[in-house]
Amino acid sequence: MPARRSDSAATTSPLAVETSAIAAIGAGAALRSPLPGGRRLGAHLPLGPGMVRAAERAAAIGADTLQLFADNPTAWRRRDALPDELPAFRSKVAELGLGPLAIHAAYLVNLAGPDPDLFERSIGVLSRELAVAPAYGARFVNVHVGSHRGAGVEAGIARLADGVARVLAEAPAGADAATLVLENSAGSGDGLGTTVDELARILDAIGARGIATDRVGLCLDTAHLWGAGVAIGSADDVDALVELIAARIGLERLSMVHLNDSRVSFGSRGDRHQHLAAGEIGGDGLARILTHPALAHVAYYLETPGMDEGYDAVNMGRARDLAAGIRPPQLPPEALEMRGSRSRAAGPS
Ligand SMILES: [Zn+2]
Ligand SMILES: [Zn+2]
Repeated sequence: MPARRSDSAATTSPLAVETSAIAAIGAGAALRSPLPGGRRLGAHLPLGPGMVRAAERAAAIGADTLQLFADNPTAWRRRDALPDELPAFRSKVAELGLGPLAIHAAYLVNLAGPDPDLFERSIGVLSRELAVAPAYGARFVNVHVGSHRGAGVEAGIARLADGVARVLAEAPAGADAATLVLENSAGSGDGLGTTVDELARILDAIGARGIATDRVGLCLDTAHLWGAGVAIGSADDVDALVELIAARIGLERLSMVHLNDSRVSFGSRGDRHQHLAAGEIGGDGLARILTHPALAHVAYYLETPGMDEGYDAVNMGRARDLAAGIRPPQLPPEALEMRGSRSRAAGPS
């Protein structure tokens, strides 16, 4: 999208103005250089300032796409009507050439647990996310694999596959239907989908229920991989992981990557996101994930801290630096102590 890049460089929206402190950290030496293979990189942006402004912000920070919440991520209740700003948002997204858009489903959704009431509520909320996705022009609805809540991995996988089949039976199936994208878990609280093997078994179980493979994709969150003890700290680690996914699942099923560094130690089953190349994973592995030749079809979304405090631009710049083989500058200590997105009610996970 070369035209959009030059447009966004000239944007004078107030949201495009960085504070001098943020600018000093560096918005990325390689901010406007394209990623290898034309792959798309965006961020989960808060909609607090408005939907149109979020799209403008995406362009201003050099993002190709964005991820958003279609509704309150921590509430069961879904609003009845679509937002008034939706038509204006869609024209802005088209004008700026943003995409593929992703909707992150509510956190409460857990299709893998044994509680019948929570299961039914999860079906309802996830069905609603898929039902509104075409109105947003969203290509993906991203949802956490969930937790078996003590019922065991086998039971959890079966339950999840039943739930996915139910949700997709009710969901739109037209050309503009969103793909349901299952996100790996860091493994805390009986989280399922912590390994490639478990993710493969989940997709197999869904396939066994007659669901076409193009309706369900996979999202790998790098911070969750790290917490779960999946090695991604070096280029060799990443290459081995990509080979394993190719052999066990098929790379075409990998639709999205949540590109985050992590604050927790490897294999700790924790999930706390950190600025890129400023956490435990580090720049080498993240750079390889962002540039691996076999992953050019994947859409990348940042879920790093401080999205509404100017660090959206900082981390977009750091990602472009990593992709260009440039080591991102060190961040000031206060940046590393910023609240993780998880501790904020409306933040992504
Ligand atoms: Zn997370
Ligand atoms: Zn994520």
